[in-house]
Amino acid sequence: MTDPVVRVPVAIVGGGPAAAAMAHRLAMARVPALVIERTDGSGSSLGESLGGSINPVLARMGLESALAESGPIPSLANLSCWGSATIEERHVLREPYGDGWHIDRPAFNRALLAAAQRTGAMVWRHALVRNVAPMEDGGWQLTITRDGAVTMVEAGLIADAGGRKAPVARRLGAHTVRDDQLAAVWACLPRPKGFPNATFVEAIEHGWWYAAPVPDAKIVVALFSDPDIIATLRAWQPAGWLAARQLALALSNMLDETEAPERLRIAAAGSSLLEPAGGEGWLAAGDAAAAHDPIASHGIGSALTTGTQAADALLATMAGNAHAIADYAARFPARHAVERRAIFAVYGLERRWPDAPFWRRRH
Ligand SMILES: Cc1cc2nc3c(=O)[nH]c(=O)nc-3n(C[C@H](O)[C@H](O)[C@H](O)COP(=O)(O)OP(=O)(O)OC[C@H]3O[C@@H](n4cnc5c(N)ncnc54)[C@H](O)[C@@H]3O)c2cc1C
Repeated sequence: MTDPVVRVPVAIVGGGPAAAAMAHRLAMARVPALVIERTDGSGSSLGESLGGSINPVLARMGLESALAESGPIPSLANLSCWGSATIEERHVLREPYGDGWHIDRPAFNRALLAAAQRTGAMVWRHALVRNVAPMEDGGWQLTITRDGAVTMVEAGLIADAGGRKAPVARRLGAHTVRDDQLAAVWACLPRPKGFPNATFVEAIEHGWWYAAPVPDAKIVVALFSDPDIIATLRAWQPAGWLAARQLALALSNMLDETEAPERLRIAAAGSSLLEPAGGEGWLAAGDAAAAHDPIASHGIGSALTTGTQAADALLATMAGNAHAIADYAARFPARHAVERRAIFAVYGLERRWPDAPFWRRRH
């Protein structure tokens, strides 16, 4: 069954933070974009720690209420065993923007989308973009499956906010250049008594561990390493994962359970750059345009910021500026290089295993 064609000025593929920020900004300018998200709006459940720098970003966008609605836990410190076996604490009192947050990520994603919708964006949930094709007289035709039916959408402009896989941009000929192969193997576990309201990071010979509380008395615990090392450690399996976790002595002391988790999930987590991040009538934002190793811990902030900047470029294009998208896309390589240097600087602080492949690749 095929529904009648729907015509919109802008179609945004994906419904994560980059898409919500873009749609919200466009709606504020009275351009009702269509957001097409394949899930119920919960989107990706990866990424649950927000530094205090998110507070001014959300305030500038008028989206603070979305954070509050999602019921976050304040994050009071960053704890790390990095460069030595001693736990170092950086309390939020030393951060210029105040408390960070541990969020229920699906709830945060849903709240951001709902805020964009209240402002005037159209949001289709459980809708999957299957194909995108240029139309003869300009604009784009999207093939979407939604509620078991195929719907055709015609859009003047199209934005790829579909995350790391950049599902639209890659169809349009752009390619993602990967800087590294970092992957995360993670589990959601019951929160042990006494686990602090803090983000915890601990380096081991084979990579690094991350743990942080999330609402509902849970913690997320993740091993970050390269796929070949994960394979050697058999860390995609609960027993191997637990054995690798026991190498993180400080973290193991904080977790009272010794059972292997029932369910592990694996995700790509390396840095990558889309080349180019825009072209005639289209652009990409958020992870679709540039994704960063989570040690940088501001992927969500970047997605919100680039989503807003993408909206400005689309508005300028609609107002007749023929260079707006090219100017927007041209900023990504230099920004990405700055980000890469910052990530290498963090890895450079850990020198205990100079011959270990994980660290050698990053020094
Ligand atoms: C392991 C890991 C841990 C991380 N931890 C943190 C952290 O603690 N803090 C932080 O700030 N960042 C973190 N990040 C980064 C952060 O998750 C991302 O930067 C952020 O989610 C990017 O947002 P986005 O909107 O660009 O993409 P996404 O959040 O990936 O959203 C893309 C959306 O597009 C939808 N989609 C994809 N294809 C289609 C299609 N064809 N049709 C319809 N919909 C589609 C998906 O369902 C999804 O909802 C982490 C990343 C990883 C991998």
